[in-house]
Amino acid sequence: MTPGFGRFFLPGPTEVHPEVLAALTRPMIPHRGKEMRGLIAGMAEPLKQLFRTQRRVLVGTCSATGFMEMAVRSGVRQRALSLVSGAFGERFAAIVAATGRDVIRLNVAPGRTIEPDMLHDALRRSEVDAVTMVHSETSTGALAPLEALAQVVHQHPDVLLLVDAVTSLAGSPVETDAWGLDFVFTGSQKALALPPGLALGVASERMLERAKTIPERGAYLDVIAFDEAAAEMQPTNTPAISFYYALDAQLQRIAAEGGVEARWRRHDAMRQAVEQWIAGSGGGLGFSYLPDEGRRSWTVSCLKVPEGKNARTIAQAVGERGWTIGSGYGSLKESTIRIGHMGDHTVAGVQGVLAEVEAVTR
Ligand SMILES: *Cc1c(COP(=O)(O)O)cnc(C)c1O
Repeated sequence: MTPGFGRFFLPGPTEVHPEVLAALTRPMIPHRGKEMRGLIAGMAEPLKQLFRTQRRVLVGTCSATGFMEMAVRSGVRQRALSLVSGAFGERFAAIVAATGRDVIRLNVAPGRTIEPDMLHDALRRSEVDAVTMVHSETSTGALAPLEALAQVVHQHPDVLLLVDAVTSLAGSPVETDAWGLDFVFTGSQKALALPPGLALGVASERMLERAKTIPERGAYLDVIAFDEAAAEMQPTNTPAISFYYALDAQLQRIAAEGGVEARWRRHDAMRQAVEQWIAGSGGGLGFSYLPDEGRRSWTVSCLKVPEGKNARTIAQAVGERGWTIGSGYGSLKESTIRIGHMGDHTVAGVQGVLAEVEAVTR
């Protein structure tokens, strides 16, 4: 790895590789010209492979929350069931309410996940036209059983499944077509390891049909406008051209690694490196996972700190040694640390940061 790279383990934004940063400095091109069209066309196939879809991948100049709002404005007619197991699930629910739709929340405690039987019951109890959910809840490090939850949603033909895959996509399996996700999106600054500034998503045919029935779905984030522009290899408005360069560079690096599956394997290995540390010296010091086994994100580990220790103090002390980790989110601020091992990080890097955590805790 490049010297100086590999010490920044925030769960977003993640560390951007120097080769990708360098792509940002290329000169501007006209956004309606031939070069831009070529750039967009060149990324179309690699983006489909990344999302595991035959459909067009929509790219927008906004952070991931922009596409969360797109999901709601174009995908929720009247009432959504929002699965809430942490801060980002709550954000999705709040957007449903903020756009004038009814929201029914299905809550579980931080670190837990909504399971298929719970979703099944909730959908039987309440009439909704969409489900919003977060796959990898970055605030708690919990990974929802997306494939099984999608199967439950599919028993209700009029219900769309809208999925925040911001810290799962490109870091752990997300099968857009095979799992039948109606809208799935991510942001550039998480497992894709790009600078913040782009959102990427895929809409199913059902999602586009639904959008057409919602005339007041907005303008800047209209999924239909994005889909039509993407069909023409065009951006909707003036896009963040520099970030497109970076995306193009990163897609080439992903291909060079062996494609998205190789990337998944590397993230799985990083997740396992943390589990091994918890099973060994980390656990010996009193660190433990917030989420249960089998429900742990491959990209962010949320760890409870030992009794009597303060998470913020630990994160700060690690920072003083030249490494960066996240402290806990919201109510978990004092009691958990979060290590974002996503993007271009390696197992050796993860072991390195864990050694620092260990050193400041002893
Ligand atoms: C970071 C994050 C978001 C929000 O992303 P922004 O790019 O800040 O809008 C949404 N969902 C999840 C799960 C995230 O980790």
